Amino acid sequence: MLRPPISKLPRKPLRWRQIRQIQSSATRLAEAYDPVTIERAEDEVDVCIVGGGPAGLSAAIRLKQLEREKGKEIRVVVLEKGSEIGSHIVSGAVIEPRALNELLPKWQSMEDHPLTRPATSSHMRFLTQKLCLPFPHPPQMNNDGNYILSLSQFTRWLGNIAENEYGVEIYPGFAGSQLLLSPTPDAHDPWGNKVRSVQGVITNEVGLARNFTLKSSFEPGMAFRAKVTLLGEGAHGSLSKQAISMYQLRKEAQPQTYGIGLKEVWRVDPEHYEPGKVNHFLGWPLPYDVYGGGWEYHMDEGLVSIGLVIGLDYKNPYLSPYREFQRLKHHPYFRKLLSGKSERLSYAARVLNEGGLQSVPRLHFPGGALIGCSAGFVNLAKIKGTHNAMKTGMLAAESAFAAIHPSDTASSELSTADLSSYETAFKNSWVYEDLHEVRNMRPSFNTKLGLWGGIAYSGIDSLFLGGQTPWTFRHTPAGVKEKNQDSTSSLDASHTEPASWHQPIDYPPFQPPLSTDLMTSVSLTGTNHAEDQPVHLRVVKTRKYVQELDRARAGDENANLALGAGSSAVETCAKGEAASGEVEEEKKVRSEHVRVNDGMYAGLLGRACPAGVYEYVEQEGKEAESGEGWQGKKLVINSQNCIHCKLCDVKVPTQDITWTVPEGGGGPKYTNT
Ligand SMILES: Cc1cc2nc3c(=O)[nH]c(=O)nc-3n(C[C@H](O)[C@H](O)[C@H](O)COP(=O)(O)OP(=O)(O)OC[C@H]3O[C@@H](n4cnc5c(N)ncnc54)[C@H](O)[C@@H]3O)c2cc1C
Ligand code: SF4
Repeated sequence: MLRPPISKLPRKPLRWRQIRQIQSSATRLAEAYDPVTIERAEDEVDVCIVGGGPAGLSAAIRLKQLEREKGKEIRVVVLEKGSEIGSHIVSGAVIEPRALNELLPKWQSMEDHPLTRPATSSHMRFLTQKLCLPFPHPPQMNNDGNYILSLSQFTRWLGNIAENEYGVEIYPGFAGSQLLLSPTPDAHDPWGNKVRSVQGVITNEVGLARNFTLKSSFEPGMAFRAKVTLLGEGAHGSLSKQAISMYQLRKEAQPQTYGIGLKEVWRVDPEHYEPGKVNHFLGWPLPYDVYGGGWEYHMDEGLVSIGLVIGLDYKNPYLSPYREFQRLKHHPYFRKLLSGKSERLSYAARVLNEGGLQSVPRLHFPGGALIGCSAGFVNLAKIKGTHNAMKTGMLAAESAFAAIHPSDTASSELSTADLSSYETAFKNSWVYEDLHEVRNMRPSFNTKLGLWGGIAYSGIDSLFLGGQTPWTFRHTPAGVKEKNQDSTSSLDASHTEPASWHQPIDYPPFQPPLSTDLMTSVSLTGTNHAEDQPVHLRVVKTRKYVQELDRARAGDENANLALGAGSSAVETCAKGEAASGEVEEEKKVRSEHVRVNDGMYAGLLGRACPAGVYEYVEQEGKEAESGEGWQGKKLVINSQNCIHCKLCDVKVPTQDITWTVPEGGGGPKYTNT
């Protein structure tokens, strides 16, 4: 049974290829899950969009607008892993309405639109431990004409329009877990290699137990067969990562780099509330060699969004992004803002792309394309990506519509949709100009001069050169060979230095209600995952994970192997004793993970994960003989706490954590982030 989508509109009936009778009998309950033989329902759509964020929803709306304009029908489905549109969205947010003006020119007259708080002031401040000093503001940070809002609420509004005014089919609670590939190579990648094309997406199974046996609630994931698949998963998307690797989309681009953004929403004492006020902060508490800064946005209804972004290329494994953020609130400026009758309402975290133009990969692959932050269009100088995510969604939609309803007969004979026109449209668009102007600012912070070098260069570039220089900086300093050219692993992780090169950081104790322990904050996210489900954080290198998927897919392209890859449990379950070799192999991988991450990097993930998912704990009793620990320590993954920020996948020094989608509908339940 499908979980009900939010739409009340009449829809085309699903075309079930095989409908499986799910029985809750005792024999069925303990049955093992075998991804190859499981039968799943299949549905055919024109465009399947993975991700109901600004990019995915803008693409969906634009497609339906074209349907009206051209009088040619198009069926558009949006899959969203959150339980509702917006429930997994984290942003600042001050947004530029540029793309919205193009998509919905009459938005101002629309009912309940959430752009009700224009930014009225915009300043940069430099913090020392005690002082808050005025600081020059690059012109890109000017916020005239921009709006302060909750992006979670904005996407919920956009989702309603997509669904109720345009007839887009939105399926919240459906996580895209695997790309559906053609059975044999039938197309060429952007480099001319013969490859299998993307023909849609398989959603995650629901109702599997942790050991991959079937629970009474079991429902196989669905195969959404699509002429075009658009990946709008946001930063470091799990399917996007696979597509980038499979089609070598990063072959000519630089590696993507990331920051982690931590955010809280406070209802502040009316005395401190200044609606429309925007402040950005540099300096304390971050050391000069750590890229990052804070924000303070006064939203509607007495709410203030505060946050801190930290570049994930930080070197010191003792650094805790969460503790840095809590410490920021101890600064006299924030202490005053959050004093009196102020109350914290929300906590959230999410990685964001920092690589800019030089890290944008090839955008199209046979049968689909990357849109929004799946590709990475954040303008870091502005700290804004929403306008670019929306516009790239719209450009990809135009290309997808033309591929599905071509005007010439030659194109209509092509079996696989070719979205190369989207790539061209991007290069000719204002998104390209927006990113080109600021392309050198982030890498200018990567020299030995750290913060000061970056500030000096960025100041000159933005004020006098306007980005019109003949050079483009790389994300690795000149002369330094890129440590990591494999697109499935992260450049940020390779910047981490051994713990022995650093001193532990002595963070101040928490001072509730101003600053609190991590679990108190996580409880504000509303995060919930069915506890008895396969662990979605796999201890496996992404390259191996993708290779396993590929090998297994050769058996049956319709099998959802994403669930099993990287976890011997599913193999054991399906094949019994025959898989004991794989279990032994997995134990070795976990033991090696603990040796390097705990032994060399002081258990970095235990500090870096903003939801306390990872722990390196003492083994008890006979556990030490299990073979999965190292020197009496083992890795524990509290996956039910995961808030889907993707930091672990980016930052783990061994690059052996692969974030995969859990059961759809779980995870955080953000409402105003
Ligand atoms: C801390 C922070 C502060 C920011 N501040 C600003 C700001 O002030 N202004 C601004 O303009 N931009 C800001 N940004 C950037 C902005 O939020 C992004 O550029 C924008 O959200 C990108 O939109 P998107 O649709 O590409 O991705 P997202 O907004 O990330 O949306 C992706 C959606 O896809 C879903 N999804 C992912 N994978 C799957 C899957 N496999 N199956 C089903 N669903 C899936 C997710 O749940 C999510 O709903 C900020 C970002 C962060 C993290
Ligand atoms: S487990 Fe990974 S994705 Fe989940 S909250 Fe922790 S760091 Fe983020």
